[in-house]
Amino acid sequence: MSNQSPFPSVDRVLNLPAMQVVIARFGRARSVETVRAVLDEARAAWRVGSAGGSLCEEEAVVRCAELLEASEQPSLRPVFNLTGTVLHTNLGRALFPAEAVQAVMDVLTKPSNLEFDLDSGRRGDRDVHVEELLRQLTGAEAATVVNNNAAAVFLALNALAGRKEVIVSRGELIEIGGSFRIPDIMARAGCRLIEVGTTNRTHLRDFAAAISTKTGLLLKVHTSNYAIVGFTAAVPEQELARLAHEHGLPFVIDLGSGTLVDLSRWGLPAEPTPQQALAAGADLVSFSGDKLLGGPQAGILVGRRDLIDRIKKNPLKRALRLDKMTLAALEAILRLYRDPDRLAQRLPTLRLLTRTAEDIGLAVGRVLPPLQEKLAGSYSVSLCACSSQIGSGSLPVERLASRGIAIRPARKGRGEGTALEKLAVAFRALPIPVIGRIEEGALVLDLRCLEDEAGFVAQVTHLAVS
Ligand SMILES: *Cc1c(COP(=O)(O)O)cnc(C)c1O
Repeated sequence: MSNQSPFPSVDRVLNLPAMQVVIARFGRARSVETVRAVLDEARAAWRVGSAGGSLCEEEAVVRCAELLEASEQPSLRPVFNLTGTVLHTNLGRALFPAEAVQAVMDVLTKPSNLEFDLDSGRRGDRDVHVEELLRQLTGAEAATVVNNNAAAVFLALNALAGRKEVIVSRGELIEIGGSFRIPDIMARAGCRLIEVGTTNRTHLRDFAAAISTKTGLLLKVHTSNYAIVGFTAAVPEQELARLAHEHGLPFVIDLGSGTLVDLSRWGLPAEPTPQQALAAGADLVSFSGDKLLGGPQAGILVGRRDLIDRIKKNPLKRALRLDKMTLAALEAILRLYRDPDRLAQRLPTLRLLTRTAEDIGLAVGRVLPPLQEKLAGSYSVSLCACSSQIGSGSLPVERLASRGIAIRPARKGRGEGTALEKLAVAFRALPIPVIGRIEEGALVLDLRCLEDEAGFVAQVTHLAVS
């Protein structure tokens, strides 16, 4: 039995004319490897006597081509974010405008003056490409940039208060998704955390009593992803700044999101800006590049020149520095901020946040019919009012009125939850996966972030639902 295996040899399959097309497309090495794997698998199935335990040459080629084709799919790829969360950390946060894409393309495909001073012909500093813009936009004396805001906070703590004490209100000991926790960051940065006040109320006298010769700085952390409401008290920034300065200490604010414009001008809830923080007396302010700012992942530090200089001299700055793609994108985004009047058209994050429920409702009207047709019988598909979130811990309690598509299993009762789960799986299995959210017995697709309607509709026929 052992020498009558019903399988062609690897070489035989590799020499078939049909296989030459596969080899030309995927390369010889991967093709050989895959033919081997296909034949091994078939042989193993044959040995245990399972059905279909034989494989002809043609089948081997087809199977091989299928496997190679499937492996062509990149792991990191686009999806439709119909979760209603505009800055979704797990879905890549902010999207780039064309200006930023072009800037990235340029530095990727051509040499650049990344660290080269064109005036002197000598080595330059990569931060200069964004520092002047950041100074203009925030009014700060100096600025520097690193890999993300977590890195910015870490670096600032280490550079300015390593081996010293850092005083923070108990109401601000935040945890951001992905295990960024103020106490842990503090420990890793080599600082000793001194918590003052209580969860809901902290007073100036709590800070004053904690200051000693061991104090390195006073820190305020923006409670970006939660709100403390009710009987509360926090110390105004001006007062904390005054107290810090009386003792010759820096006052540092981690703003979290931080945007460079007043969002209320577009009817959005106001989020504190670095300009306001600096005007209130902060010596150093840190914020993210890819939250409300709408740019690349980056951490931005603005403030006093002497503090920024100390940060830039810290060896960790080199370990946390930005790469040229990010710098190019960040510069392009910051340039857009010089013209706030056109920002809502040009910056995708702001464009999506400012979309009106009426406009989104019109999109629902266009996308609904093909979905209704496809899902007829098994599901009811209808327009629904829903609310979007800004996301990434920005303005956690604020909601934006939006419109979406609610899809409910036609049959109520037992199995309804499973049917919904299956539906969500089917949407995620589309060529461009669609991510919605399950809410009150429906799969809700919030269309606020749907810009490529045609691309979405073109996929509906592929939806594998029973
Ligand atoms: C989001 C956030 C961070 C972390 O910023 P990343 O850019 O995601 O690293 C730090 N502090 C606060 C207050 C935040 O909201």
